[in-house]
Amino acid sequence: MLMTRWLAAGATLLSLAAPTTLQAQTMEALKADANTPGDILTYGMGYNNQRYSALKQVNTQTVGKLAPLWSYSLNNPQGQESQPIVHNGVMYVTTHNTTVALNPLTGKQIWKHEIEMPADVFKMACCGIVNRGAAIFDGKIYRVTLDAHVLALDANTGKQLWKVKAANYLDGHAMTAAPLIAGGVVMTGIAGGEYGTRGFIDGWDPQTGKQLWRKYTTAAPGDKGGDTWPGDTHSKGGAPTWLTGAYDPELDLVYWGTGNAGPWNPEVRKGDNLYVCSVIAFRPKTGEFVWHYQFSPNDPYDYDATEVGMLVDMKIDGQDRKVLAQANRNGFFYVLDRANGKLLAANPYVKVNWADKIDMASGRPVESEVTKRIRAGGDETVWPSVLGGKNWTPMSWNPATGLAYANTLEMSWPYQIAKPEYKKGEWYLGMNMRGVNFPPKGTPGGYLSAIDPMTGKSKWQMAWPGQPSMAGTLSTGGGLVFTGAATGEFIAVDATNGKKLWEFQTSSGIIGLPVTWEQNGQQYVSIVVGAGGVWALLGDERMAETPAGGSVWTFALK
Ligand code: CA
Ligand code: CA
Repeated sequence: MLMTRWLAAGATLLSLAAPTTLQAQTMEALKADANTPGDILTYGMGYNNQRYSALKQVNTQTVGKLAPLWSYSLNNPQGQESQPIVHNGVMYVTTHNTTVALNPLTGKQIWKHEIEMPADVFKMACCGIVNRGAAIFDGKIYRVTLDAHVLALDANTGKQLWKVKAANYLDGHAMTAAPLIAGGVVMTGIAGGEYGTRGFIDGWDPQTGKQLWRKYTTAAPGDKGGDTWPGDTHSKGGAPTWLTGAYDPELDLVYWGTGNAGPWNPEVRKGDNLYVCSVIAFRPKTGEFVWHYQFSPNDPYDYDATEVGMLVDMKIDGQDRKVLAQANRNGFFYVLDRANGKLLAANPYVKVNWADKIDMASGRPVESEVTKRIRAGGDETVWPSVLGGKNWTPMSWNPATGLAYANTLEMSWPYQIAKPEYKKGEWYLGMNMRGVNFPPKGTPGGYLSAIDPMTGKSKWQMAWPGQPSMAGTLSTGGGLVFTGAATGEFIAVDATNGKKLWEFQTSSGIIGLPVTWEQNGQQYVSIVVGAGGVWALLGDERMAETPAGGSVWTFALK
């Protein structure tokens, strides 16, 4: 039972009610998260990032009776991209400037912590004023801020325990992702690849916030890979790390994706530019890099590989393999051996014209005539667009179907390189930016796709009418895929055929990450709602048809 003792305690701590028996969350509990459906302790609903729950009370037969139980206003008009954490009868949700603890059965607020930030931070954030969620460990809630700080809150009370600065936001750095906690270390990434910054990953002491290590994601002269950058171009070379990694406890490897090279114009930084647009496998305790795979060497097109993908154990040619499966923004679906980074498959899952294929022997893309003409200064239409074949939101995995469920995008963009000019704190692109080409009316710009990882082909696709969805997906043992629409419909479809089985109109557009959990034998499905994010930057007039406004919704069978 939650106590209902309410008190005011200063400007940042608005209220609290203290459940006094909150047990500590151990590293063992985090490791087990994917298989403990009563709680959600990690971003990804498990270190493997599969966003799969075995729960099946809500299934293809019963989902028609799914009904809203409560809604909680986040009192925030920005896009909402936070994945809830659920532990021991408390749900934790973040916005860009608040962290709230809620009773997950009623939606009643237990505590709320507010973050004060300098006003000019809001014009710096490249791609939306957002936060993507918290981490939980040992009685503390961890999160990051747009002005590039990491902080720890008491999970019982919301009291701030420590706050440390990771970078200077005036340089163009920002932080938006949920931290990853593994090996007793809190790990965070950094955004700012569009601003001529240099990416890194940090490891922090969970108790004190002391920095344990920092690993830069562009290689300096003298480093291994330092010769892949001309001159000192690595120092503004990007490779941001703006999403959350995955972790394999048996291999003791963290997998973290890196973003675009800076500036976008590839001709001014000839070479592969390690480690842009890569996945890096490293040790959580030290940050020591063990292997890397670069998806887009010399990145010509802002093809961030920050959404690291899923750790899946699957049979390939009759052999059990431990793989990393990633739907890359560059339009290819990759399967890598996650012990050593060996490429096992790479096939297009959307229309691609920047590369003809990925050469399986070298693991490198074979650039197309389109890309050759662009490198020579041409003005071309490139598929996929700057948004990628899939943007930042994660896909999910269903072990029963062996399919990856992702909201994919079928859009191109006009591309021509230009002379880059560096100004501190401003975009550093070196290209003639004209947005994306919206598909002609009546042609879908995006689909919910059920992708075979080994071929990239979709077993089925459900077209989004109007705006494509930029939401994440959730897969369940009930044979369902949950996701949401830009216009606010929260939906469940049959994982085997894409047939829509249930729909509920929420209060704003959905760009967040659905989750499911159980308490006292009842299954619940939750989603954070609120239109905005990167799509809002593209000037789609249709967004005006959907109101903004953040809220959390929870559903159960009636
Ligand atoms: Ca769990
Ligand atoms: Ca980028």
